[in-house]
Amino acid sequence: MTSLHLDRLPDTAPMPVLFVGHGSPMHAIEDSRFSRAWGEAGAGLPAPSAILVISAHWMTRGASLVHIGGRPRTIHDFGGFPRALYEAQYPAPGAPDFAAATLDLLQHHHTAPDIEWGLDHGAWCVLLRMFPKADVPVYQLSLDLSRPLPDHLALARDLRALRRKGVLIVGSGNVVHNLPAMRYGAQGFDWARDFDALVAGHIEAGAFDKLAELNPRDPLTRMAHPTIEHFLPLLYTLGAADERDRPTFFAEGIDLGSISMRSVMLTAT
Ligand code: ZN
Repeated sequence: MTSLHLDRLPDTAPMPVLFVGHGSPMHAIEDSRFSRAWGEAGAGLPAPSAILVISAHWMTRGASLVHIGGRPRTIHDFGGFPRALYEAQYPAPGAPDFAAATLDLLQHHHTAPDIEWGLDHGAWCVLLRMFPKADVPVYQLSLDLSRPLPDHLALARDLRALRRKGVLIVGSGNVVHNLPAMRYGAQGFDWARDFDALVAGHIEAGAFDKLAELNPRDPLTRMAHPTIEHFLPLLYTLGAADERDRPTFFAEGIDLGSISMRSVMLTAT
């Protein structure tokens, strides 16, 4: 695929690609073993030229949108949390040049530029820990919920070229995400552990297609994801990886009984 916008960007060694299990927005402002793991992962990465986040919290229908704004706003898209969380800001610049290159790469996938969005909490809560200086340009790509699962994986394959332009691709969702089943202080429920282990096994085996072939109506998948949006960002991370990448899980564990915090980094070997 040719892209004038892409060709103009300097080449780099291939960036790793990440999936972060974000869970509660409170991890952004509270110390936890998960937020610590995110910080350590960020500090160990080569400096990205830009960060592309695919978050569970930006859902569209009929087209995948790419935010092209130069100053993405911090979106506080949640309710019932302490004031400190609403006061948190992530003032990173946008990445219009990288967004234009991304639109070129995805030209066969029904995409459109966007100037309304910004950074939702799936993006900024993680980045606040991972890149606290907020000095790396950031942009988001939406989840088009009208696509079947394999199409998300196929779309993400066309993002691979960005890794050689220094772009850190970050999927932000959760491997298990059932809010109605959530219990404070609960250990992981058996079905949550089962689905988490199934996903981890497929990632370790490089069987990414198997995850795109899951049936959202299968009973275990439905327990893990009553709605599918927190699972989809994982398909972007895996689609942007290839057979030369090795996975490492830099955070894992079930929070609140029904939220898997499993996070994976795929690094070129
Ligand atoms: Zn979420």
